[in-house]
Amino acid sequence: MAAPKPISRIISHVILDLDGTLLNTDSIVSQVVKPFLVKNGKNWDSKKAHKLVGKTPYEAAAVVLEDYGLPYSTEEFLSMITPMFSQQWGNIKALPGANRLIKHLKSNRVPTALASNSSRSNIESKISCHKGWKDSFSAIVGGDEVEKGKPSPDIFLEAAKRMNIDPSNCLVIEDSLPGVTAGKAAGMHVIAVPSVPKRTDEFSSADEIINSLLDVKPETWGLPPFNDWVEGTLPIEPWFIGGPVIKGFGRGSKVLGIPTANLPAENFSDILSEHTSGVYFGWAGLSTRGIYKMVMSIGWNPYFDNTEKTIEPWLLHGFDEDFYGEELRLVIVGYIRPEANFPSLESLIERIHEDGRIAEKALDLPAYAKYKESPYLRNPLQQGSSVIGNETGQDSK
Ligand SMILES: [Mg+2]
Repeated sequence: MAAPKPISRIISHVILDLDGTLLNTDSIVSQVVKPFLVKNGKNWDSKKAHKLVGKTPYEAAAVVLEDYGLPYSTEEFLSMITPMFSQQWGNIKALPGANRLIKHLKSNRVPTALASNSSRSNIESKISCHKGWKDSFSAIVGGDEVEKGKPSPDIFLEAAKRMNIDPSNCLVIEDSLPGVTAGKAAGMHVIAVPSVPKRTDEFSSADEIINSLLDVKPETWGLPPFNDWVEGTLPIEPWFIGGPVIKGFGRGSKVLGIPTANLPAENFSDILSEHTSGVYFGWAGLSTRGIYKMVMSIGWNPYFDNTEKTIEPWLLHGFDEDFYGEELRLVIVGYIRPEANFPSLESLIERIHEDGRIAEKALDLPAYAKYKESPYLRNPLQQGSSVIGNETGQDSK
């Protein structure tokens, strides 16, 4: 008797979800729904935001109405809120790694579809301001073009049909549980990139779970690999952040033996929400001391609301004294790895030191070294920023 046929792993086509996978739609949802609730005498609870992820607009509207006890029918609520959303569709930022992934698939001629529970016209509005996106997709399928949205497999099956490919040859990338369920029900391979932190245990039906699009390894699926990693680091579009150094949680120096110069994350919640958690590196400028190499983590802190992240930079230099209150400027130029759990404190410390060595070495590469000269690192204290810092610094939990 012939041996059983091995499970097909021949991936030739990719199907991408849009909201929460390629676009940071969550930030727009809270921007629109929050003031609407306030007008209606309610307060937005960011802890409930995850319940809206992956839902069709109608389902999401019903959830909001029920959660906040609003006196409207779903239709009434949608007719009020839809115009507010429509104004924002063009303002949604791409998530880290989205542009890179789309360009990579296109330049390697991997046929790629977009499949979203959003209506076709909303999809078109959302992607219109992202250069080159529309032309990169072989097919676009909206929730209003099939009978049932995700978690039904219809959208993905339709995308495969339009690309003229068998579902088993498709790799889906999805941020939501309904999306992962839909991809599996369609008989496809699914990478989950959960947009809600600390809920990865719910995604066990996915074939792979990753932290962000920066961590996609196409070669795992037989697709052409990225070739932009340099010595264990991924160059990113630099971003800039600064403020007075505050006292952290004491974990850095006391528990780990690694002193971090913490910034008041409350001041940067918007910019941090745009960046995926993980370990990054770059240059740090201290107003009265100089410019140093730096490695840092961005992560979710249980002390804060689960939509808040903290940022903990480790300046790769031995300082003799604390410098709380001093202005710290950071230019973040590269990515090393996602946040991870470690079996022991020792292994965590070891890994942080390894991150430090990787950053130390990489920052000598011309592509990263040039940012040491960034004027931002040497800028004098901006007017008013110390006041904000003092307020939040003393307030920090
Ligand atoms: Mg999604």
